[in-house]
Amino acid sequence: MSVRVVVGGAVFDRGRLLAARRSAPPELAGRWELPGGKTEPGETPQAALVRELREELGVEVEPLEPLPGEWPLKPGYVLRVWTAALRSGEPRPLQDHDELRWLPPDRVDEVDWLDEDRPAVAEAVRRLRAA
Ligand code: C5P
Repeated sequence: MSVRVVVGGAVFDRGRLLAARRSAPPELAGRWELPGGKTEPGETPQAALVRELREELGVEVEPLEPLPGEWPLKPGYVLRVWTAALRSGEPRPLQDHDELRWLPPDRVDEVDWLDEDRPAVAEAVRRLRAA
């Protein structure tokens, strides 16, 4: 069975990281994630990230670099994360989310991240601090 990539975006803007609170499904609602979603067949992770953030948040992002590693999700899915720069628009929760926050590095622990996202968030914050 092939594994489907779920791509998450560590979106940076002016030294802050974007966090998105899920509104569904019920078992994930209220938890925070790096926004993104499933790649379609034949679609690169970068293209999926651009598409998903346009659909979910109404913004244009530029994928920058993949973070090292991939993290298992439910069976058949793995999470990979790209850093990305906000290029245009102000993110709004149009689908899947009910709140967004821009977190500076020292406030990133203030939200309850999905367990699967925590290693990527930690790496994203290291890069944000080094930038
Ligand atoms: O966003 P979407 O529902 O397409 O994501 C598919 C699954 O990937 C979610 O059910 C969630 O469990 C997981 N996911 C995650 N971390 C993310 C994005 C998605 O764990 N940043």
